[in-house]
Amino acid sequence: MKKLSVQDIEVRDRRVLMRVDFNVPINEAGRIADDTRVRAALSTVKFLLSKGARPVLMSHLGRPKGKVQPQLSLRPVAQRLQELLSAPVRFAEDCVGENAVAAGNAARSGEVVLLENLRFHEAETRNDEDFARDLAQLGDVYVNDAFGTAHRAHASTVGVTRHFEERASGLLMDKELENLGSLLYSPGRPFLAILGGAKVSGKIEIIENLIGKVDSVLIGGGMAFTFFRALGLDVGESLVEETLLDTVQAILERAKSSSTQIILPEDVVVADRFDAHAQKQEVLVTDIPEGWRGLDIGTRTCRRFAEHLESAATVFWNGPMGVFEMEAFAKGTRSVARSVARSTDHGCRTVVGGGDSVAAITSLDLQNRITHVSTGGGASLEFLAGKSLPGVEALSDARSAPV
Ligand code: AMP
Repeated sequence: MKKLSVQDIEVRDRRVLMRVDFNVPINEAGRIADDTRVRAALSTVKFLLSKGARPVLMSHLGRPKGKVQPQLSLRPVAQRLQELLSAPVRFAEDCVGENAVAAGNAARSGEVVLLENLRFHEAETRNDEDFARDLAQLGDVYVNDAFGTAHRAHASTVGVTRHFEERASGLLMDKELENLGSLLYSPGRPFLAILGGAKVSGKIEIIENLIGKVDSVLIGGGMAFTFFRALGLDVGESLVEETLLDTVQAILERAKSSSTQIILPEDVVVADRFDAHAQKQEVLVTDIPEGWRGLDIGTRTCRRFAEHLESAATVFWNGPMGVFEMEAFAKGTRSVARSVARSTDHGCRTVVGGGDSVAAITSLDLQNRITHVSTGGGASLEFLAGKSLPGVEALSDARSAPV
């Protein structure tokens, strides 16, 4: 399982072809709206520069679907990276071909090359062999520091690796694997998972994999209502995935005969329509009025979840507890965010993954009170669902590191 780390390979004067995640939001004026991902990559890039390497960075940005789309160019990222690094960053107008090869060859140690958006070529997501070979020409060793795309078998995460003897993980990737790995393989007890979000469908495999591994799964968000429906409750107009009722019933049965407790909300905030200004009230889950829909967990549930969190030694949280984009239904998600941060203060190991939960944490400025904020929502879920991530599989095993 342990992979070769960039810290264990010789990089001096070598071109290090590194997959990074520079998939940043770009605003209408073509500027970077949030540079968190560029900052996150700095530690590995700086490490490489300090070792005299010649980093050649590649990333995707948005979904250009194989076409050159100027508004999805990585050029503004090259500019931002140069400012943050205080080191020269050369930008290659294309990620393969003469221009890219020339930029890679021209860069001296202490300089960085950033290639244009990988997904301007549809061959990237197709994991095309020729495209992967072209990319491989740009480096002497390969590093993957983009955990967020490690669950996808693309040319830059899998195909390209076939051409390298040394395929290492970057420092960010190391941190992700260590933190998520510790949840699966050596969690402190009690280990508690909090899952929310709109649908059960995206999280069935993770729930199934966590049964028997965690002590409790706390369920909030829209997905709770499919559980209630499976238990025979009336949930009004709340979100229910009818086709999953049998699956959910089976999960509840399996949990009963396992060491894992599934904990559902006791009360919910219901609204008379799906609207930020809807009429709302808090009711017990057994009393959801006809025609109303549950859009957040209630006060009593927030308190109960907080109590569970107080005694936990390990926590994994993914998914909002309600429609947190609307102020009226954001209370539950914020309450859980605060409770998770408080647990960390008391020595609990806390890992938060997924765009919405991470957004809730950062909007409350709690990111420094979380043990590990995962950069990969989908990838962290697949990892915890027990699936192997193709981008991680493709890396060399640690023991093959040259001595
Ligand atoms: P997911 O991508 O599955 O994690 O779902 C995230 C989305 O779930 C957010 O956009 C929330 O607004 C939505 N959500 C959370 N709770 C509910 C709910 N009770 N009803 C409908 N949508 C919800």
